[in-house]
Amino acid sequence: MSCFCRHICSLSNLLFLLIALGTAYLVYLKIHKPAPAKQVHEDKIIFAFLGAPGSGKGTLAKQVVQELGYKQLSTGDLCRDNIKRETDLGKKLQEYTSKGALVPDDVISSMAKEWLDVNTKDGKNIILDGYPRTANQAELLLNMIKTFYPDYKLRVVSLNISDDAVVERLCGRLMCSNKDCGAIYNIKQFVDIEHPVCATCGSPLIKREDDKEEVIRERLKIYTQTSQAVIDAFKKAGFAVEEITIEDKNPKEVFEAFKKMIA
Ligand code: ADP
Ligand code: ZN
Repeated sequence: MSCFCRHICSLSNLLFLLIALGTAYLVYLKIHKPAPAKQVHEDKIIFAFLGAPGSGKGTLAKQVVQELGYKQLSTGDLCRDNIKRETDLGKKLQEYTSKGALVPDDVISSMAKEWLDVNTKDGKNIILDGYPRTANQAELLLNMIKTFYPDYKLRVVSLNISDDAVVERLCGRLMCSNKDCGAIYNIKQFVDIEHPVCATCGSPLIKREDDKEEVIRERLKIYTQTSQAVIDAFKKAGFAVEEITIEDKNPKEVFEAFKKMIA
């Protein structure tokens, strides 16, 4: 009988020991959580795309958004959105955009900051499309990143194309009227069609108000005057300017060149 008791006793001791060990292990796991798997892309990057109007910055940015999951800040789109919604800001912006003139730096910078405040939260890489466009905007941007988004690194990418190629492209540019789609086409693709529609979403295609030859030439003149100053501002701050040659490349080839650059 006493032998049987001893068995029961040692069994319950064993059980107790097992429970105690199990609990201790669970507590240990809770304290020493295994380190999360190392992220493949640890760096959060803001890519500033520099390129003349019509260089294809916007088209490349859209591909990068779709294929690689980046986000795109297009200050031109922000301007057009405000103008379309007829906001107070929109009325002010239209005075500049309709002439192809640059919107003042403080207005553009605060629009950009408002967008970045919201869109840096998930840590996705970002493309700046058409911003910064003056040396002052570049300096304000560098300060903004340092102060408010210190986890982000900046890479500056210049898309190089000649003026003649730009004029030919932009005079025939058509864009989808559906702003959630924003697909871009060229009139050459629709020679026999009177009312071309978007192949992606079926919305009518429209010509941008500022895609007229005299406005294009004005935008190109401004771009040439200001882009060197932007590049100089970045170089002065210690940033290398990476280059992609656009001239004869189609959108797919430009995207391939970008992927090679970030690989
Ligand atoms: P594009 O690159 O074809 O010139 P965008 O869509 O980038 O056109 O910009 C359209 C217009 O919006 C510009 O002509 C300018 O008036 C205004 N704009 C956009 N981005 C900026 C910026 N960073 N600084 C000043 N003005 C801007
Ligand atoms: Zn569309």
